[in-house]
Amino acid sequence: MSTAKPCKNISSLIRLLTVLAFFSAIAIIALASFGMNRIYTHQVINMAEKEAILISHLLVDHSHDTLLASNGSTKLRTQIEPLEISMLNKTLSEFLHPFDIVKIKVFSLDTQIIYSTDNVIIGEMDLQNKRLMRALAGASDSHIVLKEALRDLKNETTFDVDVVETYTPIIVDGKILGVFELYIDVTKFRKEIRNGTLQSLLLLSSILLLVYIIAFSVARSGMKQIAEAEERLRKQAMIDALTGAFNRGELMSRAEEEMARIIRHGPDGGSGELSLVMLDIDHFKRVNDTYGHQAGDAVLQQMSGRIKQGLRLYDIMGRYGGEEFLLLLPHTDLTSTYLVAERIRTSVAEKPFTFKEQPLTVTVSLGISSITPGINLNDAINAADQALYLAKQNGRNRAECQLPREQD
Ligand code: GH3
Ligand code: MG
Ligand code: MG
Repeated sequence: MSTAKPCKNISSLIRLLTVLAFFSAIAIIALASFGMNRIYTHQVINMAEKEAILISHLLVDHSHDTLLASNGSTKLRTQIEPLEISMLNKTLSEFLHPFDIVKIKVFSLDTQIIYSTDNVIIGEMDLQNKRLMRALAGASDSHIVLKEALRDLKNETTFDVDVVETYTPIIVDGKILGVFELYIDVTKFRKEIRNGTLQSLLLLSSILLLVYIIAFSVARSGMKQIAEAEERLRKQAMIDALTGAFNRGELMSRAEEEMARIIRHGPDGGSGELSLVMLDIDHFKRVNDTYGHQAGDAVLQQMSGRIKQGLRLYDIMGRYGGEEFLLLLPHTDLTSTYLVAERIRTSVAEKPFTFKEQPLTVTVSLGISSITPGINLNDAINAADQALYLAKQNGRNRAECQLPREQD
């Protein structure tokens, strides 16, 4: 039915939105996790860099005599004697112990390592190092190196920790003399970065979930309301407002469906039979004239219920005109239809209707017809009408039969 389409469209729209929401949530969470990881990592790098710069100042003060030339000019010594190196190793290991420093290099202006806690690389040059160049130009440079990705000079000893590697210029009396390279162990922050990122993601996921739940329940209840409104409209389009019976349009379309069924199955064996009853309230004008239009309406309402009680579930009943009802009885021959019509007639006549607790005695006349091969719906309805006319002629409050005539 065409009326079911909007609801179906809304369902597929909701499904589409669900899929979009799911993928957008994944994209938001992935981007957020990347962003948060970067923020936390930057915090760790900044912290380590500040510490490295502070330590480098302390180092210059601490090892002033060993690192700087003693001839009065402010510049780094080009060579440090092995004995001084071993003394420096000793004092630095005590000095650096509380700072989580894993390695230090001291570069001269021409990128030569003049001292390192990793003694093997003393004397080597690092000409291709852009970070070193930047520090030689006066800017400190730091980055994080995770232990899985650690790469360094060819002979250098590597270590199994995450480090922040900082290049910071050695500045004395406003002059750049060389560069310190410090490796600060930040392995302990790895867990903090991961936990911080996870907690933020958990919070973000909960907020997203809540937003989606609210959005979907709003959408779902909107959809339910639309479906209900649609159902109301559908009913309004086929139900007569006063009596609650099918209106004439719906009645005719059901009759057409029944006709199509007869054509499919044929009239034999009972399965293809369809009988019609046209019911008309006797002297209904008098009811209106005597008791008022509202009383007439009450009778029409009650009449609909009374007729339904006399029918089977699959029989069809509708308001054909003002005070006329048409009944369609599938799989029912004329004799059985006559019995049904009589049952309805007596149920109307024997028990008065009521309006404002006032009893109203009403009778009905019924015209019966049935559909046989070659008969169209209009002919069958005309025959039922003629039978009804006959019933009126013969004194009302009775049922008459009339078989429709086959057209040539
Ligand atoms: P008959 O026995 O020959 O059928 O007589 P009748 O008075 O029932 O027939 P008639 O066609 O003269 O009058 C039908 C009346 O039904 C006229 C009209 O005002 C009334 N009627 C039609 N629809 C409604 C309705 O919805 N409500 C009310 N109260 N009256 C209606
Ligand atoms: Mg009438
Ligand atoms: Mg009438």
